[in-house]
Amino acid sequence: MSKIDKPLPEITADKKPFWEAANRNELLLMKCVNCGQLRNPLYAGDSFMCPNCNTTKPPEWVKATGHGKILTWTVIYRAFHPAFAEEVPYIAAVATLDEGVRMIANLRGVKPEDVRGDMEVEVFFEKLTEDINLPQFRPKGAKSN
Ligand SMILES: [Zn+2]
Repeated sequence: MSKIDKPLPEITADKKPFWEAANRNELLLMKCVNCGQLRNPLYAGDSFMCPNCNTTKPPEWVKATGHGKILTWTVIYRAFHPAFAEEVPYIAAVATLDEGVRMIANLRGVKPEDVRGDMEVEVFFEKLTEDINLPQFRPKGAKSN
């Protein structure tokens, strides 16, 4: 941990199942009970409404494989917040998960110059606080982060 605390995701009631599962090293997605569309809860609003069928029924939670492929990425050379100053350069990547849902996370365990589009990645979790086990990417099969 840095001396300066990192800004943390807010655990709202609607997303509590996601963060509870993350603490068990499981990645959950929201599944619409009406039309079956999957969503990444990290980018859903605080009140659930399916963007496909507009139902406001609470979603089901389904376990994701945690596997995906890099769609695009950027390398951060200049920390946008002092808590990240010791981490630059780092990679922020968008991956398409095997379930077809996109997710943004840091890509660890690979040098910026070695990242490739379609690179296979897997989610692992980085313990930030007692409550936050943050999903991150690493190259598939990588043993360390
Ligand atoms: Zn729906």
